[in-house]
Amino acid sequence: PAPQPAYGRVLLKISGEALMGPQGYGLHPPTVQRIANEVKSVHALGVEICMVIGGGNIFRGLQGSAQGMERTTADYMGMLATVMNALAMQSALEELKIHTRVISAIPMDQVCEPYIRRRAVRHLEKKRVCIFAAGTGNPYFTTDTAATLRANEMSCEAIFKGTKVDGVYDKDPVKFEDAKRYSTVTYDEVLQQHLGVMDASAIALARDNDLPIIVFSLDEPGGFRGILAGQGTYTKVH
Ligand code: UDP
Repeated sequence: PAPQPAYGRVLLKISGEALMGPQGYGLHPPTVQRIANEVKSVHALGVEICMVIGGGNIFRGLQGSAQGMERTTADYMGMLATVMNALAMQSALEELKIHTRVISAIPMDQVCEPYIRRRAVRHLEKKRVCIFAAGTGNPYFTTDTAATLRANEMSCEAIFKGTKVDGVYDKDPVKFEDAKRYSTVTYDEVLQQHLGVMDASAIALARDNDLPIIVFSLDEPGGFRGILAGQGTYTKVH
């Protein structure tokens, strides 16, 4: 029998950069397909899945404003970038026969659904993967905060933050061989020690609503499913 997953409804947050694969920019279709397969394997366990994908592989508001663009305009461009990533992921998931809805914080009815909380909940109950796009719809925020907001609104039991490494370390494990991974860490430790999990507003929003954040490696094949089945290495921020 299939392992009984430890969670019934989760939100998977990945950065836009996770979709660019070995390229320095944009979307790398084989990488998008690989991640879609990871999502499919968790969907097969009966877990209800929300996703938030960043936009940094295409455009970041801060980058634009550093080059002289108005910050709010640049942030809207960043939000639009997340819609492109969401559509790419939807296409890859539907290729795998997983019903998926892209739900945008900024209405664009010809492209995807507008965000209506009750409707999104209904999609989840029907086991459709909901990809929340356009961040929070507001400038000066990040998709980490959008992920925390939507996870709270959808009553997710945890946020799964897929990264390049298998958890939260006391220092950069890529640079330092003696870096130590935490198996658990508190929200306040993350904030006080500036452990780069998510930005501070996202961590605070998770903390204030007791929403655990599971940091795991997206590069580890089967990693996402493994954790849901109670295996593998990760850090739980709680
Ligand atoms: N963004 C925003 N409001 C939001 C979410 C995102 O203005 O609620 C903009 C912001 O400019 C950000 C860009 O969208 O730089 C891409 O999102 P993010 O940097 O979070 O993507 P990631 O780093 O996860 O790829």
